[in-house]
Amino acid sequence: MSEPAVEAKVEVKQASKEVKESENAAEKYSAMTVSKNSEMNMGELASSVFSAVPTHKPVKKQIQFVEEKQEFSRFPTKTGRRSLSRSISQSSTDSYSSAASYTDSSDDETSPRDKTQINSKGSSDFCVKNIKQNEFGRREIEIAEQDMSALISLRKRAQSEKPLAGAKIVGCTHITAQTAVLIETLVALGAQCRWTACNIYSTQNEVAAALSETGVAVFAWKGESEDDFWWCIDRCVNTEGWQPNMILDDGGDLTHWVYKKYPNVFKKIRGIVEESVTGVHRLYQLSKAGKLCVPAMNVNDSVTKQKFDNLYCCRESILDGLKRTTDVMFGGKQVVICGYGEVGKGCCAALKALGAIVYVTEIDPICALQACMDGFRVVKLNEVIRQVDIIITCTGNKNVVTRDQLDRMKNGSIVCNMGHSNTEIDVASLRTPELTWERVRSQVDHVIWPDGKRVILLAEGRLLNLSCSTVPTFVLSITATTQALALIELYNAPEGRYKQDVYLLPKKMDEYVASLHLTTFDAHLTELTDDQAKYLGLNKNGPFKPNYYRY
Ligand code: NAD
Repeated sequence: MSEPAVEAKVEVKQASKEVKESENAAEKYSAMTVSKNSEMNMGELASSVFSAVPTHKPVKKQIQFVEEKQEFSRFPTKTGRRSLSRSISQSSTDSYSSAASYTDSSDDETSPRDKTQINSKGSSDFCVKNIKQNEFGRREIEIAEQDMSALISLRKRAQSEKPLAGAKIVGCTHITAQTAVLIETLVALGAQCRWTACNIYSTQNEVAAALSETGVAVFAWKGESEDDFWWCIDRCVNTEGWQPNMILDDGGDLTHWVYKKYPNVFKKIRGIVEESVTGVHRLYQLSKAGKLCVPAMNVNDSVTKQKFDNLYCCRESILDGLKRTTDVMFGGKQVVICGYGEVGKGCCAALKALGAIVYVTEIDPICALQACMDGFRVVKLNEVIRQVDIIITCTGNKNVVTRDQLDRMKNGSIVCNMGHSNTEIDVASLRTPELTWERVRSQVDHVIWPDGKRVILLAEGRLLNLSCSTVPTFVLSITATTQALALIELYNAPEGRYKQDVYLLPKKMDEYVASLHLTTFDAHLTELTDDQAKYLGLNKNGPFKPNYYRY
């Protein structure tokens, strides 16, 4: 037998070992395709799909509550709009213009906190910009539904079973048409929901109105102050006769608030589902400190979500963000992409497809070699800095583009970031007296050097696509479906399945989310024969890859 063949056998053995481990935990799960699963009970389905995959060993704990350094010095009141001493998280302030409201509310300056509004059913248990915008919001939700067929199919399949009956979910996410489809799915599955925004700029006011009109208690509007932000969170949690038993969070601010202000609420909470990098990081910190007192599901690191958020979404939204802000023509432009990870690969592919000449910078030889194999020149930034028309950072690192390099860029070049927050381009170094800043459009600044050279800085170095373009509904559908299934699983899990720890979604669940989305494309999966399954050491119904597999 040749050496590679021996290696292949070893790999298959390893793969089947992982599959077996995963099967034990997900033993009841019997089918992968939507049609087969449609006969399963919904709670059973999620429970069976999930396997308990703690990301590190659980620490023994009892209910404990964090004493964070940051204190909320004052409780926000309706009249006293004092700023709280703890700043809201980065994700709370990063704008997310895919969620931009199309309704113009600039004519009404009154704070929603100072208005009394009532929906058509007589309820005033909400606080939105203008409840009268609800019909327009309904149209937005209907449009989003068209590209979120996986959620709609979950909704239809589980309508009679109501796997979330009795669930009282408090949510803190972007309030957009896509989130509304998720919230209405949760309600259709039996949950009661109270919702607030995880971002002070991202709420679609008309969507918030449409949700409030149907009876979801929404506390959110576009352009909240920091004080409003915490007030809205508080109104969601602190209400007479209603106590949440599930948390859906994006950024960790809601979880933090409950820990800080209402620790007793955790006695009833069955689980937290967290979407963002920041929020997941906070949960791991709590867990490591032995202070996490309920199970938490890390949705952020599921394979499907990562791929869609990082690679496919950026592949589309990089062009959208650049076009909307600059009207640039891509053909023939020289572009340098810093970082050839998932985001960088997406940006490179999109720009190459439109005829741009693309250079890549990398620190990692593996990613650099991948870039070479994909036909890109791998260079040091300094080698091309004087000639490139566009720089895009995608590294997750800091100071990838320095003032010295910005000084050497040519007139009219564009600088933007697709990576972590606003750390990649040293924007602060451009705030010096000899440089003039001119705001030429929303999110577009011309930074002018004394000799008249202009560099076009987009979104002040924040994430370009989240600031200046839209995120496709289909991408959000993947996340929302994962969130819904994670909630169903945590809510229905038998006692003891999940400890006070942070769990990753198992491979089977990722495969299931993907399979639900395949119907959109009328894609038909090939089924393994018994013989093939045996040969590969796989269960015919998945999971099809070991956990270490890199897609
Ligand atoms: P990744 O780790 O796959 O890729 C980052 C790459 O940058 C790595 O290959 C790394 O070797 C390289 N790198 C690090 N420092 C560098 C430097 N100084 N010069 C050149 N290359 C360098 O990560 P990813 O999934 O591609 O995400 C990158 C960043 O984008 C992260 O901050 C992530 O949070 C963010 N992100 C943005 C979006 C968006 O919508 N804009 C979506 C997902 C992730």
